[in-house]
Amino acid sequence: MMSYYPLSLRNLVRNFSKLPGIGEKTAERLAMHILRMPRRDAELLAQSIKEVKERIKLCSVCFALSDHEVCQICSNEARDGSLVCVVEQPADMVAVEKSGSYNGVYHILQGVMSPMDGIGPNDIRIKELEDRVKTGRVKEIVIATSTMVEGEATASYIAERLSSFSVKVTRIATGVPMGGDLKYVDQLTLRKAMETRNAI
Ligand SMILES: [Zn+2]
Repeated sequence: MMSYYPLSLRNLVRNFSKLPGIGEKTAERLAMHILRMPRRDAELLAQSIKEVKERIKLCSVCFALSDHEVCQICSNEARDGSLVCVVEQPADMVAVEKSGSYNGVYHILQGVMSPMDGIGPNDIRIKELEDRVKTGRVKEIVIATSTMVEGEATASYIAERLSSFSVKVTRIATGVPMGGDLKYVDQLTLRKAMETRNAI
């Protein structure tokens, strides 16, 4: 049936179907929707896709997604730069921000250690975290990786690796259910977990 469509439309369907969770039927529906959209709206969509690819980079300090070399949080002087919350992904940082209980800065690992998938400590931003600690400006590291096996292993590894530095290492485990992914933890639970963090 697809081959009855003109080539440009087939290309759009094909590109949509490469997205996660989008099957061919949905891809076709989206393409048809775009076709019916006002030209201006379709152009804005295309433009915003182009813009994120051109502009978004990783903050050179914390590796959060940013439009600038240093992100808004790292460059905000009202934030406590001596307190660093370590998370796996940008979405986890957003979850902590939404809980409204945190005024420190972040370190986004850009992944989690997972021997099964061949991801070791050198494949995520642990060295960069150690470098931040070495500057002596960091007083506390709050590890907020998930409570799944990989998140726990990563937390232990980081605590061990930073044990020779005079930095307090804490973990926000309390209240976050085992196997819990930060993104899915409600804001109140996350706030409590942040307030009652324990030394590891
Ligand atoms: Zn940053």
